[in-house]
Amino acid sequence: MRFVQIPLPPHLPKRWLTIYAARSAGLSACPTHDLRSTYFKKHSSWGRLKMWLAQASQYRCWYCEAKSDRAPFDVDHFRPKLGVTVDGAVLLGHDGYYWLAYEWWNFRLSCQRCNRPEKDSSGVLHGKANEFPVRDEAHRCALPAAVLAAEEPMLLDPCVQADCELLAHGIDGEVKPLASEGTWDNQRARYTIDRLGLNWNTPETKKNSWRLLDDLIRLAGHQPAVVAHLQEHLSTDHEYSSFFRSAIGTHRDKAWVEALL
Ligand SMILES: [Zn+2]
Repeated sequence: MRFVQIPLPPHLPKRWLTIYAARSAGLSACPTHDLRSTYFKKHSSWGRLKMWLAQASQYRCWYCEAKSDRAPFDVDHFRPKLGVTVDGAVLLGHDGYYWLAYEWWNFRLSCQRCNRPEKDSSGVLHGKANEFPVRDEAHRCALPAAVLAAEEPMLLDPCVQADCELLAHGIDGEVKPLASEGTWDNQRARYTIDRLGLNWNTPETKKNSWRLLDDLIRLAGHQPAVVAHLQEHLSTDHEYSSFFRSAIGTHRDKAWVEALL
């Protein structure tokens, strides 16, 4: 997970502001959960921002950094719009964060592997879907007037730089918590890794690329072509660049590698 800066106005597509005003007005005329559900089905306008969101991350999933060849992209609502689940159980008495349904700052570009529920071969369910646990339910927001800043989401947010720094990478491509066992930061990282399935079917391309880079560093050494190749993988435009930064960092004992990081 690499920090993604949400482009706020004036970098928002002008057409979206018109759509946003119309949808907000339409939503305010839907006082019940059923009416809102119907309204969202008819007006899933957030899809119109998909390309705009993709440009902000150089066409990579904001959660796992995969390009769309892992799976097509969805526009995920970070705070779910129509209901909340915690560990798969519906949170009773909560209708979802419906008032955020058309707020662009609640959108995250997500590949379908990260977003949609699916069981792995061991029967473990992955996919964010409507999952949104918080540290203390007493501080959960349930109405538009509530203060979102009082919530402490369990899921790491790619739009919060400090959250992205809570994940580390093994050289085998495995994503791991950085903080010590037993801490809240460790819990958040572990939850995010498991829920999004970040270690489920680690792409072979990721591992193979690292094997090649590792060989180049060890066997070819400090040569312009090797430096250029490493720089390409460290670029924020590159798929899995946070993984490659960690993996290349295992050769920090070489001054020329350290200088690239
Ligand atoms: Zn993803």
